[in-house]
This record gives sequence, structure tokens and C-alpha cells, in this order.
Amino acid sequence: MKWTDCLREILWPNRCPGCGKVILPQELLCEPCGEKVLLGHDAYCHACGKVSCLCEKRHPAYDKAVVSCRYADEGAAAIIRMKRSENTNIAYFSARILAERLRFSPEYGSFDCVMPVPMHRSKQQQRGYNQASLIAAELGRLLGLPLREDVLYKEKSRYEQHNLNAGQRYENVRSFGIRDIRLDGMRILLCDDVLTTGATMDRCAALLKQNGAAFVTAAAAAATVPPPQAPTQTQGGTP
Ligand SMILES: [Zn+2]
Repeated sequence: MKWTDCLREILWPNRCPGCGKVILPQELLCEPCGEKVLLGHDAYCHACGKVSCLCEKRHPAYDKAVVSCRYADEGAAAIIRMKRSENTNIAYFSARILAERLRFSPEYGSFDCVMPVPMHRSKQQQRGYNQASLIAAELGRLLGLPLREDVLYKEKSRYEQHNLNAGQRYENVRSFGIRDIRLDGMRILLCDDVLTTGATMDRCAALLKQNGAAFVTAAAAAATVPPPQAPTQTQGGTP
């Protein structure tokens, strides 16, 4: 290890983004968190990416979805630390899981490029990076795919996506746009940090298809999970 890396390890030790515990420099999460954050590959719908499938209501514009982590507990903590520019380990961790799932499930097929869901310039400057780009870049490196950030863009929106109800989310996603670049026949891996309703991915995939994309797979580091079932009330209890 170089002395500068040594010094960095002493001053700012590598921490698990799930629980905050100090971990080895080469680790991304502590072992317990690494297991807890995972969303089983069979636990979500491979078409919409949701734990509780939405396909019957409305099939999204993307064709397939792949997800790595649960947006709950330690998984949510890790994603939030990435959004606050505190710890980006989860981007590399989730990219590894996503790459593995894409490689070993033939249903996904091959891709021509990877694209992150864009972020508005001013927000990216404030944060220092677009977290979707971090995930997309690592995923591209692992799968040997070019990263395309020149196609989609985002206008400044009035709202933060995660604070909105479903109607406002729909309104908000209209701030995404696409440049006049033909994508005829392309198979695109579209990448974002969290898949909530899927509205953002849906909008971006629809734009890509407008420009000729043949197939879009939505890859999300994490997906929201339904809250645990409340214990069932026993009928006829004392009032
Ligand atoms: Zn941990």
C-alpha cells in the first residue's frame, strides 16, 4: 500500500455503508450487511422489477428488469449514504451483483451499451457525481459495454422524485428528454439507483424506443419492498 493510501485509511477508514462499521480497505460492505442488503433474484418480477409485480396493471416501456438490493434497512442506508456523497461502496457492490445476474440469466441476452438515468447538471455538480452513472460505469466495465451519457438528459424539475405521490411522479418524469440521436435496433441497459414505482425507468425507456431502441433492460441497484405484513387482528376482540 502506498503511504498516501495508508494515511487515508487512518484518517478516513473504509466503512460499511450499511451499518457504518470500519471494514478492510478492499471490502465494500461488512459480511452481515452484504447478505442482508441482497434482494433474491427470484424475489422480484424480471419484467417490471417490482417485488409486488405491476405488469397486470400496465406493462412498462422497458422489456426486462434486473435488481440487486432491497431498498430497506441496511440497503436503504447504503443508498442514502451514496446520495449524500458519504460512501459510494454500494454502487460497486450492486454493479457486481447486477453483472452476475445479467451474465448468468440467458433471458436478458446481450447489450450494445449501458446508459445511466440522467441527473440535472446543477444537482450533479452539487453532489459531485450522478450515482446512476457510478453504477452504470462499473456495470459497463464489468460487462465490457460502452457507457453512453450523451443520449438522455434531465431538465431541472420542481420536485425531488422520492418525495412525490404517484401522480406527481408521473408529472415529474416528463422533465427527462432525449437528444436527436438514432438508436435503431440497439439493446440498451438502462441504469438507476432505486426503482420505486418504475416511472422514471419507464419514461426513459419510452424515449429510447422513440429513437429506435429495440430492447431496454432496466437495471436498478435497489428496489423498494412492501412493508412487512402487520400481524392479523383477531376478530371479535374486546372493544
Ligand atoms: Zn455493515
